[in-house]
Amino acid sequence: MISERILILGNSAAAIAAVNAIRARGGKQAIAMVSNEPCTAYSPVLTTYYLRGEIPESALYFCDIGYYREHDVSCHFGTAVIALDAAAQRVTLDDGTRLDYDKLLIATGASAKRVTGLDPEIAAEVRYLRTVADARRIREAALGAKHIVMMGGGLVSLQVAGAVARPDLKVTCVVASRQILSQNVDATCAALVCGHVERSANIEVLFGASVAEITRSGGGYRVCLDSGAELQADVLAAGKGVSPNIEFVDRAQIAVDQGILVDEHLRTTFGNVWAAGDVAQGRNRVSGEVELVANWIDACEQGTAAGANMAGEALAFPGSVAENITTLFGVQVAALGITRSREGDGLREVTYLDEARGVYRRLLLRGEVMVGATLLRDVADVGVLRGAIAAGREPWPSAKAAAKGHVRYTGLFKAALTGR
Ligand SMILES: Cc1cc2nc3c(=O)[nH]c(=O)nc-3n(C[C@H](O)[C@H](O)[C@H](O)COP(=O)(O)OP(=O)(O)OC[C@H]3O[C@@H](n4cnc5c(N)ncnc54)[C@H](O)[C@@H]3O)c2cc1C
Repeated sequence: MISERILILGNSAAAIAAVNAIRARGGKQAIAMVSNEPCTAYSPVLTTYYLRGEIPESALYFCDIGYYREHDVSCHFGTAVIALDAAAQRVTLDDGTRLDYDKLLIATGASAKRVTGLDPEIAAEVRYLRTVADARRIREAALGAKHIVMMGGGLVSLQVAGAVARPDLKVTCVVASRQILSQNVDATCAALVCGHVERSANIEVLFGASVAEITRSGGGYRVCLDSGAELQADVLAAGKGVSPNIEFVDRAQIAVDQGILVDEHLRTTFGNVWAAGDVAQGRNRVSGEVELVANWIDACEQGTAAGANMAGEALAFPGSVAENITTLFGVQVAALGITRSREGDGLREVTYLDEARGVYRRLLLRGEVMVGATLLRDVADVGVLRGAIAAGREPWPSAKAAAKGHVRYTGLFKAALTGR
């Protein structure tokens, strides 16, 4: 009997979680996997640790080739999907290979957004960080560099800046908004992190600045800002967010908004096609909106649910929770759920600042329900708070968390809320 053919596009968090979920259910389907990278699965999250020289490249890989053998996956690595005909149940790769399937999972993730408006030749020389190959390129470029101009002031831009800056290598971050991390945290938290940025490394941040033009100058570049100021750089880099890898998707067959639209079972609008991870756009559990939420945990959870559903189970994904938990310039920063409030959105904020210790905490509440948290330096109870946000609960700690001593701040928040 011919077994069912499952094809998985992608080989990262969502794709591997799906394989695990299918095989965990004893599925004997024939699984094929396609990746445009020539290597086994690795974590993009760890690439900044590699850039900083804290871990070797080998530590990025979380599957070796034995994994694919053990899970009976046939691999098409180092070749990109260029076309998908969902009606014909067929995918075409850039080496001319055609793969037919019965069920398809699109888990092609996202790529760094490209800077627009530059001379095309110069634009091609801008370095981004998404893949292990990108990390190798940045590391190499930084070796002999004296001045890197980084376009952007988000998490990835700052992590790259922090990883490569040295006493003899300055990084200038050109940031359009008035704060760093404008997509992740509020202005107070951003200002506190910025203090660490300026104190701890050879990094300068220019706020409210945009690049107007970049031309060649000597062996490097002249970067002209819209203020009229000019910077000399020998390496250009940028971090402007990500966009889903969906070029091969025919929008007449599969509905796409910013990402591939999925229902609670990660199914796309085309019956035997699922999507999971950074490429998928589904319901945000906290905001209730259908939007892109790109993070590792979501990608894994979505991949697990998609794999289970492709294996015949009906497993609902409860919705995404935005979260970024990272260390910037030696300080832990966590941004969970909704972290930016707007006039008239009905959210209440409660903040706690201990300037001496550099601790900042901010909760956002809708009524008594916690919908977001921003934590700086003291993130010990991040799991408790994430649990409360994901479950749509009040922020008071569970008995278990209280027993662990994580009640200090929640007590303060309660006092601030109730006035007692
Ligand atoms: C520097 C950095 C730091 C990060 N830090 C964090 C963090 O602290 N916490 C967190 O939660 N998240 C973090 N992330 C985000 C996290 O890495 C992603 O959310 C996660 O990797 C998404 O997994 P995914 O499986 O959806 O896709 P991806 O990891 O993007 O993988 C996509 C896969 O699809 C393949 N592919 C793409 N296009 C094609 C194509 N056309 N044909 C064939 N194959 C293709 C790729 O080769 C890859 O195997 C970070 C990302 C970066 C870059």
